[in-house]
Amino acid sequence: MTRYADLHTHTYHSDGTRAPREVIDVARAHGITIVAISDHDNLAAFFEIKAYADSVDVLLVPAAELSCAVDGVDVHVLAYAFDAFNERVAARLAAFRETRHTRGYRMVDRLHALGYAIDRDRVDQLAGGGAMGRPHIARALVEKGYVASVAEAFDTLIGTGKPAFIDKERFRIDDAVALIHGAGGVTSVAHPSHYPDSETLLARLFDAGIDAVEVIHPDVDDAARETFTNIARFRNKFLTGGSDDHGTVKAKETLGSFRVPETLIGPILERSE
Ligand code: AMP
Ligand code: FE
Ligand code: FE
Ligand code: ZN
Repeated sequence: MTRYADLHTHTYHSDGTRAPREVIDVARAHGITIVAISDHDNLAAFFEIKAYADSVDVLLVPAAELSCAVDGVDVHVLAYAFDAFNERVAARLAAFRETRHTRGYRMVDRLHALGYAIDRDRVDQLAGGGAMGRPHIARALVEKGYVASVAEAFDTLIGTGKPAFIDKERFRIDDAVALIHGAGGVTSVAHPSHYPDSETLLARLFDAGIDAVEVIHPDVDDAARETFTNIARFRNKFLTGGSDDHGTVKAKETLGSFRVPETLIGPILERSE
């Protein structure tokens, strides 16, 4: 019997709203038995829920989503099946969480100056000690009634280039690839449709040593899937996919609706079982 995977999910250890256990349970309810929790800059969910996943026969793949800079473009790289106990990985992720925290506070201060009085402490609470991100700030703005939705917060205040936007620190792409390869893992380009001139960029990322591209994703349509798949096949790279579920913070909950057959992700399974 073919098993199915979801290799792109988020929990409240970064900017999702679900508990790790809920991710496992909802995935299982949809017949998914291979799961990667790819929180931004954080492995906490893996350690929290590994024993539980084992106990219900879900293969939990170590994962993280890394924000990288490539020729001035913000590219998200999914890291998979690396040694979860690798100290260099842990140290780099911790350093990025620290800079996210500083940047989050700076954005709160900027919002104050603009007349939006949200509390640092509340943003801290919403981030729950994990990787702080703009969605936490957006939720604090919604709670205070300054905007009607997270989407409106991004559109008017904290989206790229908006008045309260402050950029965050990113990995250099070669750095991210070296770090993850050094820990025995593989890398994939997340949601490739999000980037300008994505086909050229994908070639550039493959040149930099990225191993795969995420072709099953809510934002990758059929035509794009075919194009990215062809580029990957031509370059001897492989394919990944997932729901990119963030729980209720995004307009749609996608967990369970994006199933990736195990035949697609051999290189990850080889490193995980
Ligand atoms: P940050 O990493 O702090 O810059 O925040 C970026 C995160 O915000 C992304 O990973 C998405 O999860 C989320 N995001 C980006 N745009 C939107 C949007 N329009 N609505 C809701 N969430 C968004
Ligand atoms: Fe996110
Ligand atoms: Fe992403
Ligand atoms: Zn994601």
